[in-house]
Amino acid sequence: MSDLSALHDTILTWYAAQARDLPWRRSPEAWPWPEVDRPWAVLVSEVMLQQTPVVRVEPVWHEWMRRWPTPAALAAAAPGDAVREWGRLGYPRRALRLHAAATAIAQEHGGVIPANLEDLQALPGIGTYTAAAVGAFAFGIRSAVVDVNVRRVEARLVTGAEHPAPSLSAAETRLAEELLPAGDREAATWNVAVMELGALVCKAKTPQCERCPVLDACAWVLAGRPAHDGPRKRVQKWAGTDRQVRGKLLHVLRDASGPVPRSKLDVVWPDAAQRDRCLASLIEDGLVEPLARERFRLPA
Ligand code: SF4
Repeated sequence: MSDLSALHDTILTWYAAQARDLPWRRSPEAWPWPEVDRPWAVLVSEVMLQQTPVVRVEPVWHEWMRRWPTPAALAAAAPGDAVREWGRLGYPRRALRLHAAATAIAQEHGGVIPANLEDLQALPGIGTYTAAAVGAFAFGIRSAVVDVNVRRVEARLVTGAEHPAPSLSAAETRLAEELLPAGDREAATWNVAVMELGALVCKAKTPQCERCPVLDACAWVLAGRPAHDGPRKRVQKWAGTDRQVRGKLLHVLRDASGPVPRSKLDVVWPDAAQRDRCLASLIEDGLVEPLARERFRLPA
């Protein structure tokens, strides 16, 4: 589609009709939870969604918003409470990162999430992507939010490649910026609309081109759907990995009401060397606190 504004219209119209009603996407005018700080709700959702699908995030997000409706509320809790409430979302260091960000927001910004990209990015654990997403979705700041779905849609639609490169390139960021509509509000909606198109239609393994609003303009389809010839994204296995063992150890600590003796951790995995290595890494990451007499707990 050579006409960029026609492309904008097509995808924005599709989004208006097809978007999922996800709680963290509600506009300020339609925000139904007056006690919940909306920018905080957006920030928490963005961190949770980075490596976990919507269906698993949504219930945990609701529970976090019920318990910690503001950054100050989470900052007043123990980091271990954040890890416990993280449940089984995976990559639990994200819970500690959110706690650290909440603490910085409470201590350095009077409990108010900064409404500019520079200060957002200076928060602990908040990288370029999360800052751009919170800037766009919470504050309407015009910035390109380039997640894995956006990268895939733009690779196919504009570049004509089935998959983007394994990691984000400067050219991709430039392209995403060039594609942004001029208006701030349209730009923010465009980001989430392209994400949604990638999540619902232009899926990684099975793109559903027959129901895609930009099928006629898609460079990859017009080129005859050439097979991907670049490096493949590595699929991380789970069974038997340290990630699985760490998850099992944390599960025991999350379910306990107090410190746990080593004997209770020893039964979760038969390989003692791997188990000890994983426990040591959890301690090093700050997710587990060792106590006297070989007892362990979530960080207080
Ligand atoms: S036509 Fe197919 S490959 Fe192209 S953007 Fe749409 S879903 Fe993706």
